[in-house]
Amino acid sequence: MRPFSFSIRKQFYRLNVNFTDCIQIITKKEVVAKIGINISTGSLQKEEIIVGIDLGTTNSLVAIIHPDNKQPVALKEHDSSSLVPSVIHFDEQGNITVGNEAKRFLVTEPQQTIFSVKRLMGKSYNDIRERSSFFTYKVIDDNTESLVKIQAGNKFYSPVELSSYILKELKHRAEHILKTPVTRAVITVPAYFNDAQRQATRDAGKLAGLDVLRIVNEPTAASLAYGLGLNKEESKTVAVYDLGGGTFDISILRIAGGIFEVLSTNGDTYLGGDDFDQAIVDYWVGQTGITREELQLHKQVAQSFRLKAEEAKRFLSTANAFTSEIAGTPVHLTREKFEELIRPFVDRTIVCCTKALKDAGLSVTDIDEIVMVGGTTRVPLIKESIGQFFGKKVHDDVNPDEVVALGAAIQADILAGNNKDLLLLDITPLSLGIETMGGLMDILIPRNSKIPSKAGRQYTTQKDGQSGMRISVFQGERDLVKDNRKLAEFNLTGIPGMPAGLPKVEVSFLINADGILSVTAKELRSGVSQTVEVKPQYGLTDAEVEKMLLDSITHAKEDMQSRALVEAQTEAKQIMETTSQFLSRNASLLSTEEIEVTQNAIAVLNAVMESGNKDMIQEKIEALNDISRPYAERVMDQAISKVMSGKSIKGSI
Ligand code: AMP
Repeated sequence: MRPFSFSIRKQFYRLNVNFTDCIQIITKKEVVAKIGINISTGSLQKEEIIVGIDLGTTNSLVAIIHPDNKQPVALKEHDSSSLVPSVIHFDEQGNITVGNEAKRFLVTEPQQTIFSVKRLMGKSYNDIRERSSFFTYKVIDDNTESLVKIQAGNKFYSPVELSSYILKELKHRAEHILKTPVTRAVITVPAYFNDAQRQATRDAGKLAGLDVLRIVNEPTAASLAYGLGLNKEESKTVAVYDLGGGTFDISILRIAGGIFEVLSTNGDTYLGGDDFDQAIVDYWVGQTGITREELQLHKQVAQSFRLKAEEAKRFLSTANAFTSEIAGTPVHLTREKFEELIRPFVDRTIVCCTKALKDAGLSVTDIDEIVMVGGTTRVPLIKESIGQFFGKKVHDDVNPDEVVALGAAIQADILAGNNKDLLLLDITPLSLGIETMGGLMDILIPRNSKIPSKAGRQYTTQKDGQSGMRISVFQGERDLVKDNRKLAEFNLTGIPGMPAGLPKVEVSFLINADGILSVTAKELRSGVSQTVEVKPQYGLTDAEVEKMLLDSITHAKEDMQSRALVEAQTEAKQIMETTSQFLSRNASLLSTEEIEVTQNAIAVLNAVMESGNKDMIQEKIEALNDISRPYAERVMDQAISKVMSGKSIKGSI
């Protein structure tokens, strides 16, 4: 399997065009270091607690290594649960609540209550189009490859911002319990997350005021929590079976010499305990004579059924029968019936396990350990079926809701230098990336990446017939390149004349074991390419690196706002250009009034471009989209029907 660090973002980015040749020089020290920084004081500090965070789809939690007994522990307030529901509620005044309090509004204020934001991280609307009905809140459909935005009230939020609210809540919780500032964290992500999703998670951490030392794969963290991989001599193949509320993941890992390699992943992003609850509801509804339509009409009754079904499911993990009542109607469920209801779901997970083994080139007998993750693995039938499938007893001693966060805390402890033998690899202290349209920093190798390391991403041209592209390489954590440090700049010339957006320029970064960065740009259709080596000569001091990190956290909010504004302006420019082109090409297919209304909407958008208000720009983009979409669809339909009837057409889209 390709290592994730080399995954290529589906999206195309547009680069500025400018032709100046200048290459700056850096040292190995700058590119490679092992560093820890206390964000509150700005100084190097090794003692501060680093927390491990499981930023989950349904629930999130934070864990630490207990300073006294050195054991990982999930943080909770007194008797409450360690789990914080990953739900965010916005009230009329724009006040934000997170967790249990927010969860209460899921039914009553669905448009204002955001859940499952993890499913949107690093995604464009096109990525989630088929599942858009799953989200009860408004996910903006701008029909493009740009990253999704969520509307609550008259404000637009990115998944990064929303995740940062959850992380902030966890940070506060940890600070309240530990009575000390918490500024450094390890955050877990699914093994299949691509680099855009990993970067989005890092950005969310930064926005929450956290220095994210490492993004760790969830199955790696879960294995660590069972002590797997802590002995460097040991080499094992592990299957991590993760069945939560709404998602299922199976990952096959090879652990050798303290390095965790993901051999394969499989799963179903819409399969989990919620489906079990629904199966119980359907069964009871069938028995009580209530129709599905009635349930749909009476949201409160439906909610009572769902809650009671979940209660029954949990109860049956340790009992053989469940009896209760819903609004006076008795309900009953035996473990046997429950198992019959969920069998098809269990079978589906086993199909995924088979596929994952096949992709890893392994058979069940090659698996040494099976680790259970996620609340739903408490169901006895799951443990039995998975144990039977792999022919081994599964690891289920650690709380499956907490196991990932506990593992993240172990990784955090290792990074804090408390377990010196392990995983101390050379790393990049600052992120490396290139400048994209609007002066934005696009990170290819995030800070704290192991070296040697490589990464690549595809970009495209901004103008028709553009024959060159300037590649400017930057180092740093800020969102705008002007705030980072320029390392090199070169031109890729000789791109054959093509319409804007057609050339595919792959930019690859490679840091070799000596910490020397080489950057290559290659236009894939024509094969023209150019490489520059950023050679070591003079360096940044530790203090300078620290300052750059500190600045990135301190300015995270304004950086995020500037980025969002630049992105909205770029999107606005693009939509104004394509809509104007559409109007001139298809004038004969539109009425004078339609053309006028569209031109007005373009003019309104143009007028707010320099307002500096990204919500207003976004709103006007939406307005223009809403006006032009039906015309575009109609012109498309007309074009198709004309082609179908054998006639040629005048306009084009
Ligand atoms: P997670 O997404 O990992 O937080 O898992 C949450 C899911 O685990 C929900 O569907 C819960 O209903 C389910 N769950 C939690 N405890 C139990 C239990 N004791 N038995 C069965 N399912 C459970």
